[in-house]
Amino acid sequence: MTASPLCVACGVERHAIAIEPVTARYEIRSDECPKCKTVVRLVNARRAATGKRKLAETRGIGASKPTDWSEKEISQLIEMAGQKIPVREIAKLLGRHVGSVRRKAWPLGLIVDWMVH
Ligand SMILES: [Zn+2]
Repeated sequence: MTASPLCVACGVERHAIAIEPVTARYEIRSDECPKCKTVVRLVNARRAATGKRKLAETRGIGASKPTDWSEKEISQLIEMAGQKIPVREIAKLLGRHVGSVRRKAWPLGLIVDWMVH
């Protein structure tokens, strides 16, 4: 999470008042000083959803969420896990990040020792 910038004049932390997506990868965040009410706008790289989202505005913006798994992908994952295919291979075959595969496999009870490699 990007820390809120301090207001140079007041020395207090600014509060994010708006986040506007610019592209799929970047967004502009507006931070307002609670004392002097000046606003600074910063371009930030957008983060993948990590659970803790302070601002609801950032939700649901942009292209399809890569975290959504189709039924087909889930069954492929289960099948490959059953064949003890290394998680890196599974990730490659599904076109996903290793972390994403692990996160999906965990609630399915597929996390076993091969998953750590
Ligand atoms: Zn200020």
